[in-house]
Amino acid sequence: MRSILRTSRTLDKDFLPQKGLQYTEFGPQEPPDAARKFEAGRQDPESSVGELLDAIREAAISWLAPMTEQELREKIVEIGSRLYAREYIVAGDGNLSVRLPGTNEILATPTGVCKGFLTPEMVVRVDLGGRKVDGTHDPSSELAMHLQIYRLRPDVGAVVHAHPPCGTGFAAAGLALDKAVISEVVLTLGCIPIAAYGTPSTQELADSIAPYVPSFDALLLANHGALTYGPSLESAYFRMETLEHFARISLVARLLGGEQPLDPRAVQKLFAIRERTGAASPTTALCAGSSDRISASTSAGTDGDERITLRRGDLVQLIADSVELAARLLEGAVRGEKR
Ligand SMILES: [Zn+2]
Repeated sequence: MRSILRTSRTLDKDFLPQKGLQYTEFGPQEPPDAARKFEAGRQDPESSVGELLDAIREAAISWLAPMTEQELREKIVEIGSRLYAREYIVAGDGNLSVRLPGTNEILATPTGVCKGFLTPEMVVRVDLGGRKVDGTHDPSSELAMHLQIYRLRPDVGAVVHAHPPCGTGFAAAGLALDKAVISEVVLTLGCIPIAAYGTPSTQELADSIAPYVPSFDALLLANHGALTYGPSLESAYFRMETLEHFARISLVARLLGGEQPLDPRAVQKLFAIRERTGAASPTTALCAGSSDRISASTSAGTDGDERITLRRGDLVQLIADSVELAARLLEGAVRGEKR
């Protein structure tokens, strides 16, 4: 049985064994042999400082070593199973890809195959121009969308595309998940905009996401599905989980009368934490309604008025000044009447 990291989710627990995959836990992994050797050496009074330093070096190298191509192929199989178990994809839906460390190539899922039933050999190796380098299958028909992300975001190591029912429901309704409502989501994803509809498997779809990719780590695709990416396959997958979870929470909140957005100052603080912890994507974009800038007039050109923006504090001060001025004028008028 292939060893698969475990979450505490019932779906995985039931589904993975059916596929011959062992159910183990996501989280701290077993220390590598080198780390165990170091710990044994540390407790042995006979071991020299030199031996300990060698053990430390060996342990560090094994911890930091990038995953091999075979390990990444197996990870794609595992994440495909998880997406399928959660019904984020059905039949031949969805696709995954990951950069091969130290190369200009990526591994991508094959087209026309259920991603819940992949094997490592089915994964296709392509270059960043989309040309197949190795594989018996053809790569995903959505490869152009993946390549667009790798081109625009050198920090991204993996991409996940799926059709999770609730997130895709928002995409079908033309609704972005861009309200700052849940602090954890603001911290991990910021907000989730919706990219204009583009025909699947065409450059049109790849072009539709381009304006959003530099600033966001998760997108809805209008009338289609969802897209997440991150430094690793696991991070891209977990962002898909967060997107779908947030879509479900948003739906419930709307059934209960609508979301109550976080205070703009609270959102600014969350974004400051995001930037400090390195969770922000290269250009941090604020969520709708979270900025303390308020639109103060209508669009330019319709009736000669130009559009301006004011800070909330400036607007409050302006209103306070106006009220004070009006009060003085009124007071002066009353005194004048009395005279
Ligand atoms: Zn799709």
